[in-house]
Amino acid sequence: MRSQSTVPNVKMLPVKQTLNKAEVKRLDKVSAPDNSSDVTKHLPDDIPVALRDTPSVAPTTVDRSMLRAGLITLGAIAIAASVLVAVQFQRSQQTQSDNTAIAANSAQSPAGASPTPSPTASVNTDAMLGHFRYAEATQGELGSIAADGSIKLRKAAAKAYQEMQSAAQQEGVSLMPLSGFRTLTDQDYLFFGKKAERGQVAAERAKVSAPPGYSEHHTGYALDIGDGAVPATNLSPDFENTPAFKWLKANAPFHSFELSFPKNNKQGVSYEPWHWRFVGDRASLETFYKARGKK
Ligand SMILES: [Zn+2]
Repeated sequence: MRSQSTVPNVKMLPVKQTLNKAEVKRLDKVSAPDNSSDVTKHLPDDIPVALRDTPSVAPTTVDRSMLRAGLITLGAIAIAASVLVAVQFQRSQQTQSDNTAIAANSAQSPAGASPTPSPTASVNTDAMLGHFRYAEATQGELGSIAADGSIKLRKAAAKAYQEMQSAAQQEGVSLMPLSGFRTLTDQDYLFFGKKAERGQVAAERAKVSAPPGYSEHHTGYALDIGDGAVPATNLSPDFENTPAFKWLKANAPFHSFELSFPKNNKQGVSYEPWHWRFVGDRASLETFYKARGKK
C-alpha cells in the first residue's frame, strides 16, 4: 500500500509549464494592439453583444450607417463615463498635489466621437517606469544637514538625520550626507542628461535614476548617505560592505529611516544601499505608503 503511494508523480509538471507558456504567447498575440482605424473594433465590452455583432451582417447600407453612428455615440458615452469614474476614484485616493495630473487626464478625455484613449490607463498615473510620482517640497519646509548648507531635508527629517549621524559618530562610524532634497531641474539633468551621456534607453536609465517628478529626493524626506572613512564606495553597491552601512542597517529604524530600494525590491529599481528615507511622521509615511495598494 505504501509503496504505491510513493510512486513519483512529477512528469506532468514540465508538460504543464510548456502549455502555459504557449498559452501565454497565444494570448499575447490575441491582445496585441492592431492598427485598424475601425472604431467598432475598439468598443468597450459593456456594449451589448447583439449590437456589436450586427454591423458585420447587416444587409443594407442605411442600416449599417445608422448602427455605426449609434455605436460611435454609445462608445463615446461609455468611455466618457469610464473616464469620469476613474477621475472620481483618483480624487478620493490622491492628495491635492496630484490634482495637476488629474486635470491633464481630464483634458485628454474625448470630447467628441474619437474613442482612442484607454479608460483604464488613468488608474496608474502615479507610477512610471517603476517610480512613483512625488510633489516637490518647498524651500520653506527644508532645513540644512550639511555645514555649508548645500544639502537639505524637510525639517523633521533633517533633525532626525542629524541625531542619527551624532549617534553613529559616538560609535566611531562616519555617516556622510551626499545628496538630499532635489528640485525637478536637478533631477532633469540626472535623468535626461546622464541618459544621453551614457546612451541609455529610458527603461535602462530608470533602473538607476528616477525621472524628474518621480524621485523620492523631491520630497525632502530621502537622502543618499556615504561612509566618510570610505568615500570610494559612495553611491556604489560596495557601500553595503562599509561600517556606515552596517551601522545604518542595525540602527536606522531607531531614527525612523529605512532603505528605499533593498535588494529585489518590488519596484524593480536597482539595489541602492546608500539611499534612505525618513518615515518618522504622518506626512512622510503618507508620502511613501498612501495609495500604493499592497506595498
Ligand atoms: Zn538617492
